Amino acid sequence: MTTLAPTSAQASIAPAGCIEKAPLERYVPPARPSLVGLSRAGLLEALAGIGVPEGRRKMRAQQIWSWLYVRGVTGFAQMTSLSKELRALLDAHFTLARPDVVAEQVSVDGTRKWLLRLPGERPGEAPHEVECVYIPDTDRGTLCLSSQVGCTLSCSFCHTGTQRLVRNLTAGEIVGQIMVARDRLGDWSAGTPAAGRRLVTNIVMMGMGEPLYNFEAVRDALLVAADHEGLGISKRRITLSTSGVVPNIARAGAEIGSMLAVSLHAVTDELRDQLVPLNRKYPIGLLLEACRNYPGLSNSKRITFEYVMLKGVNDALADAHALVKLVKKIPAKINLIPFNPWPGTRYECSDWEQIEKFSEVIFAAGHASPVRTPRGRDILAACGQLKSASEKLSARERLALRAMAMTD
Ligand code: SAH
Ligand code: SF4
Repeated sequence: MTTLAPTSAQASIAPAGCIEKAPLERYVPPARPSLVGLSRAGLLEALAGIGVPEGRRKMRAQQIWSWLYVRGVTGFAQMTSLSKELRALLDAHFTLARPDVVAEQVSVDGTRKWLLRLPGERPGEAPHEVECVYIPDTDRGTLCLSSQVGCTLSCSFCHTGTQRLVRNLTAGEIVGQIMVARDRLGDWSAGTPAAGRRLVTNIVMMGMGEPLYNFEAVRDALLVAADHEGLGISKRRITLSTSGVVPNIARAGAEIGSMLAVSLHAVTDELRDQLVPLNRKYPIGLLLEACRNYPGLSNSKRITFEYVMLKGVNDALADAHALVKLVKKIPAKINLIPFNPWPGTRYECSDWEQIEKFSEVIFAAGHASPVRTPRGRDILAACGQLKSASEKLSARERLALRAMAMTD
């Protein structure tokens, strides 16, 4: 993986630095647990565990929380409002480690992708790698987070679904991706509120993995992200995307309360069974019922239906009409995603004129139907192209991948 120098447009954001990818076998997992990603309750427990007296715990936890999530400090020595003794005690038991950044790429359009290395599931096991992508825009900066290494579901158009290696990320590893992004972008508050100038303003759970199959960790991580005295990314600016794990949609509504995106991609069960095999377990009817019951839906809080545009497969205008009918009674946005190709895929992206016609049908029915501009294609950071480098690709595959990713 190559590290690209930042373009002049990004030079003002952060020093990209050159990150040389170290061989996997040189990875040393952290010796002590990291506090990153603990809930407030978890932090209180950790303090109790190292003997901080009960009467002081709440205040200490509040101070640590703020150093960690507002200032983004990386070592206990920087927590100058704590006594030297407490700092030493914390240091003896914990770290503030984030996932290791082993490569950083910057796209010509400003998109950044980080390859992160995480410990294997059990001691002595080979480390894992996941990717995390930052997409800057005029009015926002969106961070796309991974929830699993690989994915157990095998949607036929998705590159991640072809990856064999799977493990759930911990809450700390999910929050750690936000920490890494803020570290690399220089996006921490220096103590003065600068909310209007934050670079990471939005989060989408649209990287590797199915977030609703790693429910507890994703929930805990998103609640940390949304804490207004910490990372401060409001739930309205957090979107969880699911391929349709129906029972956990209601749980997500009740326990997380973020925005919801649903990967619909087809209007009949027959076709969706092929594209999103999970449909055989939770067909379209059940999925839409779960969507209708998602709490708090209104004109300003809509569900996003994602629809990947596959040439000759799901892109007929009759499909567009059927799509509008399907989501009729749900406050909905429809997000058309041009298919991002990968080597060995049997699909092609729909022609641009067809995507436009499809979008017009949806628009005429009263829905906004933004077409998601592919971002970061030159660094394979676009939707469905994420697949960690721990899965070895042949040189030929790599070339093919790059060639395809470069073409629109
Ligand atoms: N597992 C979750 C979230 C990750 S995928 C889900 O499936 O919703 C994020 C989005 O990218 C989903 O809508 C997914 O269907 C879409 N996607 C996957 N592969 C793609 C590809 N090759 N081109 C375009 N979009 C793709
Ligand atoms: Fe998994 Fe989502 Fe890819 Fe399907 S589209 S294989 S659920 S990451």
